[in-house]
Amino acid sequence: MQLFIPGKPFYKGNLHMHTTVSDGKLTPEDAMDRYWRGGYDFIAITDHWKPSVERWHKGMLCLPGVEIDYNLPGQVIHIVGVGMGEGLMDRVKPRQSAQSGVDIINEEGGRAILAHPSWSLNTPEIIGAMRGLAAAEVYNAVSGFPWNAGRADSTGILDIAAAQGHMPRWVASDDSHFYNGEECSAFIRIQADSLAREDILAALDKGLFYASRGPSFRQAELTEDRLIVECEPVSRIAFASDLPYVAGRVFEGEGLTRAEYPLQLHRRERFVRCAIYDDKGRQAWLSPIPLSGL
Ligand SMILES: [Zn+2]
Ligand SMILES: [Zn+2]
Repeated sequence: MQLFIPGKPFYKGNLHMHTTVSDGKLTPEDAMDRYWRGGYDFIAITDHWKPSVERWHKGMLCLPGVEIDYNLPGQVIHIVGVGMGEGLMDRVKPRQSAQSGVDIINEEGGRAILAHPSWSLNTPEIIGAMRGLAAAEVYNAVSGFPWNAGRADSTGILDIAAAQGHMPRWVASDDSHFYNGEECSAFIRIQADSLAREDILAALDKGLFYASRGPSFRQAELTEDRLIVECEPVSRIAFASDLPYVAGRVFEGEGLTRAEYPLQLHRRERFVRCAIYDDKGRQAWLSPIPLSGL
């Protein structure tokens, strides 16, 4: 099974960012222009509790978006909604449960993404209990230095959730607020049929995307006994799973473009995933792939 469609181009997008409509430093117009100049094909402006509407900026699609948040003892839950219709805000309320927020985003035709689980101090149990998430942010740029306490990367918490059988797909997002370095740095590349809202959402549903801060996957193929990854030249290709140790799962060198990982099905491996690293240490991530069907 090939994870991506051979020869089909990828669109580049950022699904999480703020403007002066909430607590961001740029106006929507300036923020859109920053991303358009950064070579993006689509974005979603996701101001806190203030939904944006679909529009185009010089050929770049701006999906409708919003971020809603909930407080729990010891953690918060922030949900980014993208692609929904305009009836959402009549229905979502801060005093509802986060699950209600996710359900309403889905009912209104959108997709719900769990934002920055590491920054939010989310537990694997909370992630595992949520139903209807289209994705979770494996990387949230503004949660890193110098803007925040260095919890940009949620690989660890999402790996624990995956090991417990809970595998929302992974996206990377900027969560731009300051526009002084976090913007245009973490993104998804997605194989949509066109830059139309319904085609982007359909490709999200099919998992035809990967998260990145720089490097690019070309293809990933799951056979009955291995995961084969092809990518633009990188300096590390690393495979991870719910098994803490598997010998030979990390490949390092100059200009690596391919690696294979023999599945450990005899050890009851439950999921496998791959991350690639460029020579600046920037990652791209495949979402965890469940192995239970093999
Ligand atoms: Zn947030
Ligand atoms: Zn945000």
